[in-house]
Amino acid sequence: MSSETIFSKIIRQEIPAPLLYQDELVSAFRDIQPQAPQHILIVPNKIIPTVNDVCAEDEQALGRMFIAAHKIAKELGIDESGYRLIVNCNRDAGQEVFHLHMHLLGGAPLGPLLA
Ligand code: ADP
Repeated sequence: MSSETIFSKIIRQEIPAPLLYQDELVSAFRDIQPQAPQHILIVPNKIIPTVNDVCAEDEQALGRMFIAAHKIAKELGIDESGYRLIVNCNRDAGQEVFHLHMHLLGGAPLGPLLA
């Protein structure tokens, strides 16, 4: 049994964080400490702690995360200018919330990824 994080409470709307997108598989909301003019987190509704915990039954949810990313980027008007999607896994990548999440960053030139 995976332990819950704050993201489960946001998904269930038990704490107030406006959802930019939600369906039966994924949810999206703004990062509380934005690193770019637009910084959205897209998460599976199911608790998957890290990429290492992904299994075959998660394929649909993971695919839906990309579809949601495109939809949100389009709604925010940054689909053509561009955006970056990042998923960090475990300590060396700086993961602190152990509910798999995709960062959607955009709204300005982001610079090289590995500066
Ligand atoms: P990484 O940023 O490397 O993927 P983290 O697990 O630290 O690793 O990322 C968690 C992200 O979740 C951070 O960008 C943080 O600002 C964001 N965050 C933490 N708590 C909340 C919250 N209550 N609402 C929205 N975003 C949050």
